[in-house]
Amino acid sequence: MRDTETFYLSPEDLYQRLKHIRIGGTVCHYSLKKCEELVVLINEINLLKQQKNAVILAHSYVSPEINYGVSDFTGDSLFLSCKAMRTQARIIVFAAVRFMGETAKILNPSKTVLIPAKSAGCSLADSITETQVRTLRKEFPDHTFVCYVNTSLAVKAECDVCVTSANVYEVVANIPNDKIYFLPDRYMGENLREEMHKRGFDKDIQFFNGRCHVHENFSPEMVFKVRTEYPHAKVLSHPECTPRVCRSSDFVGSTSQMLAYMQESKSEEFLMLTECGLAARLEAEYPGKRVVGSCALCEYMKSNTLEDILRVLKEPRITDEVVINEDLRLRALRCIEKMFEYSGN
Ligand code: SF4
Repeated sequence: MRDTETFYLSPEDLYQRLKHIRIGGTVCHYSLKKCEELVVLINEINLLKQQKNAVILAHSYVSPEINYGVSDFTGDSLFLSCKAMRTQARIIVFAAVRFMGETAKILNPSKTVLIPAKSAGCSLADSITETQVRTLRKEFPDHTFVCYVNTSLAVKAECDVCVTSANVYEVVANIPNDKIYFLPDRYMGENLREEMHKRGFDKDIQFFNGRCHVHENFSPEMVFKVRTEYPHAKVLSHPECTPRVCRSSDFVGSTSQMLAYMQESKSEEFLMLTECGLAARLEAEYPGKRVVGSCALCEYMKSNTLEDILRVLKEPRITDEVVINEDLRLRALRCIEKMFEYSGN
């Protein structure tokens, strides 16, 4: 897909893209009749997008009709940050959650960034404040403060290096300090400590106590049950899952890395321990492969709707636009630039 590409989508085209999706309950089941209703909004959005020179970036976790109907780019936060950095569009509509819209604005201060989500929070980003980071820095003065991208602008501004789930191990391995304080995800911190040890790095890794309420609910018992029922299934988990879940998985990685693993794998059955949107992508894009077991819904990501995307394009409210303080932006930008420096991008 390209920036501001416009196309007319017929109900049949949309149905072909969505018909294999079965995960996520009846909400994510698409009939031709449902597609006939959806394309009215979809075509209106796509036309407006071109008229206003807008690009729509959508996280894999939002609803399939957004990813396959109006999104110009779909992926994880690292992929979308890179797209945000390179877009020529004047307006960025970020169908995801607030911290991702903020990241796009940090990288594109001259562009208008709009967030359509009704509820744009994130249990990780909301788990820590900049005041807490300042207090922790006094407690751990020799540590390099590494923040997950799932943090607010103000928290990034207080940290040294940002990471995403796709590059966390590589970035931390390349930081020239053996003392690391990772925040806010406790489980990703524990997984990071284990992985660094496995890779032969002797780093002192401390971490905060935040958790993603979607990923923390997966359990090794659930993995065991699925393995008993589907002995050939591959189990893929996200590093926001607990270390016990990650240890019982065949592969641990970001959503893009999970899709790449699944694409290369000879297996036809997969348990995807992450938000249901990724499992829906697997079903839509690889109909020969099958999702087994269950996934989980993030109410924040799923609060993005076609109606709200149309609304922010047509008549955005003041609260839809990401507006950030320039001093904070520059400090948060430094933190993000360090990520690109240590990941070699
Ligand atoms: S899935 Fe978890 S980490 Fe991702 S946006 Fe939702 S609450 Fe935040």
